[in-house]
Amino acid sequence: METELFIGGKWVPASSGNRFDVLDPATGDVIASVADGGESDAIAAVDAAAEAGPAWAATPPRVRGEALRKAWELMTERADELAKLISLENGKALVDAKGEVTYAAEFFRWFAEEAVRGEGQFATAPSGANRILVTRQPVGVCVLVTPWNFPAAMATRKIGPALAAGCTVVLKPASDTPLTALAMAAILAEAGVPFGVVNVLPSRSSGKVVGRMLKDARVRKLSFTGSTEVGRILLAQAAENVVNTSMELGGNAPFLVFADADLDAAIEGAMIAKMRNGGEACTAANRFYVEASIADEFSRRLAARMSAMRVGPGTDESTQVGPLVNEDTVAKVDSLVRDAVEAGAKAETGGSRPSGAGFYYPPTVLTGVAPDAAILREEIFGPVAPIVTFTGEDEAVRLANDTEYGLVAYVYTGDLARGLRVSEAIEAGMVGLNRGLVSDPAAPFGGVKQSGIGREGGHEGLLEYLESKYIAVNW
Ligand code: NAP
Repeated sequence: METELFIGGKWVPASSGNRFDVLDPATGDVIASVADGGESDAIAAVDAAAEAGPAWAATPPRVRGEALRKAWELMTERADELAKLISLENGKALVDAKGEVTYAAEFFRWFAEEAVRGEGQFATAPSGANRILVTRQPVGVCVLVTPWNFPAAMATRKIGPALAAGCTVVLKPASDTPLTALAMAAILAEAGVPFGVVNVLPSRSSGKVVGRMLKDARVRKLSFTGSTEVGRILLAQAAENVVNTSMELGGNAPFLVFADADLDAAIEGAMIAKMRNGGEACTAANRFYVEASIADEFSRRLAARMSAMRVGPGTDESTQVGPLVNEDTVAKVDSLVRDAVEAGAKAETGGSRPSGAGFYYPPTVLTGVAPDAAILREEIFGPVAPIVTFTGEDEAVRLANDTEYGLVAYVYTGDLARGLRVSEAIEAGMVGLNRGLVSDPAAPFGGVKQSGIGREGGHEGLLEYLESKYIAVNW
């Protein structure tokens, strides 16, 4: 297990000598101590990325793609080992961690294929006076900041397109889960990515370290995944040097079930949309809106499925729901549930924090939730499903859009015309229509409103790391 900073192809201690602990969420015990990068380490990482930049940008796209393809192979070969590491530091159930490794590795394979598709354009100007030549060039040095909830996939979803485009990067992983990011660095080095192209800088002083890098004129892009709150701070900082930004921020996904839906499919979809990753996903269904005539049956069946889930340490093969990542997350989930119950909601299952070690919260279904409850406005980020009833399509769409967020929505209906109509009317970057999972490396992932700016994955994901250069040509 690597625990030092990865700068310029070398494993180095923090210049201050400082380290910080990584905890096992199942017990609260320390599992590793990791070098704690500071501002001078951040500049050393930018130096390394800037130095490696020209040669990497000039490396043939096919060669860049082959290094990513090799990284996909290595991740796939070591899937079990990586899943254990993710589960150990993040707490998620192994079944979720294995799913994450496959998903994360796929970004390397997808962008290995996209590396050769940074196509430009050649046209005659409408006036006929000249030719328009558009070529794509890498943006340059990128700072990548990732959250703890998908420690592998959030890193590969940025590193894959950045490297494919010819950019070099400094990755600042979440301090709850730095070990997976360091493992990714080791894999990329083994796959033949040259020294300095990928640098990884775990740090407990994220604000200072990222702020310092954004002040450096060599940094040309910030790609951030995390909360809307931190995203706003970083957008303001990036504005100073007019740094190119991609922002994957918070979500508050509505899950709409119409009375004409296939209820079996809706329950299956609800379980995936809510419980994948134990509810710790930006795409997690946060608000269930169910047409009044089927709400009792839906709530009863969802509560039965939720209460049957096996809760335990993530690293135990039989666990379906692991602990949450840390004490703060459990405390937040607990307070949202208490607040909703005090305002009249009923816990059909779960609803209270167990005693004992570890950061556990039980799968919970709430009915009779007041429309203005905080649990419908804030990201829950835990295994709690609040259910609200609606009558008719207009009300469903109004409730779904009543949020500052716009990442993803889920719609279950047996009427395709209604499904498409509602999907178009919902203010979200993505919609799962009769489907509880939207994430796919081959599709553009991202949000509207305060859920973000830009897209990751698909061809769009590559374009985020390329600048269009227009050359007006006369000859
Ligand atoms: P977070 O608190 O915003 O942290 C995200 C990252 O930013 C971490 O690496 C964190 O470092 C760093 N950070 C925190 N404060 C910073 C600052 N002032 N300046 C620079 N960096 C700073 O989010 P989180 O709790 O890790 O993750 C959960 C959030 O991520 C949720 O809101 C979720 O919806 C969102 N998310 C969005 C997507 C998407 O694709 N839209 C995907 C996954 C997660 P430390 O760990 O050291 O604090």
